[in-house]
Amino acid sequence: MPVSLQTLLERSVKNMGSGIHPVIKESALEMIKRAYEEGIYVQISAGYRSMEEQAKLYGQGRLGYSYNGKNYSNMSKPKVTNAKPGQSYHNFGLAIDYFISSDDGRRGLWTVNDQWRRVAEIGKELGFNWGGDWKHFKDYPHLEMAGGLSYSQLQSGKRPSLTSKVSGTYTPPERKVAPEVIKKESLSKNNGDPIIKAIQKTLNSRYNAKLDIDGLNKTKMKTALIKGLQTELNKQFKAGLDVDGKWGTKTKAAVRNVRKGAKGNITYIVQAMLYIKDYNPKGVDGHFGDGTESAVRAFQRANRLDVDEIVGKTTFAKLFGS
Ligand SMILES: [Zn+2]
Repeated sequence: MPVSLQTLLERSVKNMGSGIHPVIKESALEMIKRAYEEGIYVQISAGYRSMEEQAKLYGQGRLGYSYNGKNYSNMSKPKVTNAKPGQSYHNFGLAIDYFISSDDGRRGLWTVNDQWRRVAEIGKELGFNWGGDWKHFKDYPHLEMAGGLSYSQLQSGKRPSLTSKVSGTYTPPERKVAPEVIKKESLSKNNGDPIIKAIQKTLNSRYNAKLDIDGLNKTKMKTALIKGLQTELNKQFKAGLDVDGKWGTKTKAAVRNVRKGAKGNITYIVQAMLYIKDYNPKGVDGHFGDGTESAVRAFQRANRLDVDEIVGKTTFAKLFGS
């Protein structure tokens, strides 16, 4: 049974916190409702964040960081934000972050795909600015409405007067489709994807993967890619891994950083995995160039990883292990 609208709304209200601006809250809930009508299950993961909570986030992955005399450095977690306390609209209850929920409401799906972008469109119709539109640091889950006020204006106590667009006219999309139909459509669109076919052929010849050359992205592909990775790690670095196609701690320990300029079969496997996860590296060819770099960047942003464009252990784990 699909997750109910009520559940998505309740969880979102809780995650937005009591410090959220009422117009942001109303608009966020309306966005969830409109998306739900289109068969997109969206949930808000964050809203208001106190200065202390921001300090805690900023302190992740930063040595010796303190705020108001208190130590907030936490090196056991990766860097997640460049915003110090007071440098995020979340600190003033003027921003939210969203993600797509799995149909059963049990998992968050962080892939920036058509559904994700559609939610951003709905958010923008309601007056939000979307972090995915930013030129430099794209923040795909992020929506904000600040009424033109800067951080320093807000820090000095100014508050925006926001107008809710919720009661305004809403034009539903011309074609409403049930989630089952969307799934079938994307499946048939993938049918015969020549890039996936080429990956299947390569995995068969390089690693004897025995995949059907059907251009369909199936679970088997992921297993075959992990097997390929394990084979390469054994061959190139004498890692001594079982080639079982399962992502685990041993495989994670054996991977090396893959970054721009890298060439070879491991780069190929990374590109293939990015591609089947909907992050097109613009060429699955074993050469880590600009296209791969921007695919890695988008993947890291969408998964809230440290955006360094390097496929290191954490990024490998997110790509291959989930
Ligand atoms: Zn945000």
